Amino acid sequence: MGKIRLKSTEEIELIRQSAQLVSRTLGVLAQKIEPGANGLELDQLAEEFIRDHGGLPGFKGMYDFPNTLCISPNDVVVHGVPNDKPFQQGDIVSIDCGVLMNGFYGDHAYTFEVGDVSKEIKHLIVTTKESLYRGIAAFIYGNRVGDISYAIEQHNKSQGFGIVRDLVGHGLGKELHEEPQVPNYGQMGQGKKLVNGMVLAIEPMINMGTYQVSIGEDKSTIFTVDGKPSAHFEHNVAMINNKPCLLSTFDYIHEALGIHTPEEVPFN
Ligand code: MG
Ligand code: MG
Repeated sequence: MGKIRLKSTEEIELIRQSAQLVSRTLGVLAQKIEPGANGLELDQLAEEFIRDHGGLPGFKGMYDFPNTLCISPNDVVVHGVPNDKPFQQGDIVSIDCGVLMNGFYGDHAYTFEVGDVSKEIKHLIVTTKESLYRGIAAFIYGNRVGDISYAIEQHNKSQGFGIVRDLVGHGLGKELHEEPQVPNYGQMGQGKKLVNGMVLAIEPMINMGTYQVSIGEDKSTIFTVDGKPSAHFEHNVAMINNKPCLLSTFDYIHEALGIHTPEEVPFN
């Protein structure tokens, strides 16, 4: 961490390509998420798909993480290590995926439903996803990072959900985690200015209960302390010529899941 590294339009194009490979990978996984499937199977599938398409798994080996995907079911917030435990009807599974290609990272995430989930859990997922779009809508030239944070916080707070504070969004580029940090809580008009060449991973992590989290014995998995479920959605955005630009897409996932509403982003 240190200074914000602004990117050229050419560099942003490379980040977009990495992000798009993540998007396609998540689209492939979306077709496989059902009761009885497990995280290790998905992880192998994702690694093959990424390597077949010229990328490297971005998370593997980073911070000693052993796998391609972070697979975080139910009360796991993020950084879950894939295992062979079968998914069950009514589970939710957050999958975070990173790709390194041509020297640049893409990094985004989606929370999937396994079969039918309860109304309460659905509400958590929908609200978290909406809050991602609220955050993206605040990614406007001349705004500040705090405007994104505030938009995400307000939307989730109004529903009484716990907004994770220990983990945050981030800058993205030659490194997976760059400056600035993008918290999911904050104040309007505060923080770094959103300028041309900035590339961010915006990623609300929202708990049904308390915002408090703990780390597992594996030193990776982050759990909610009250055991209630948590949702996570992440997109990558860039500022080019005073205009916000979405580098990642959920279109492949939506297509696989039969969701026919377009992404709710105010730009593309
Ligand atoms: Mg991520
Ligand atoms: Mg991220």
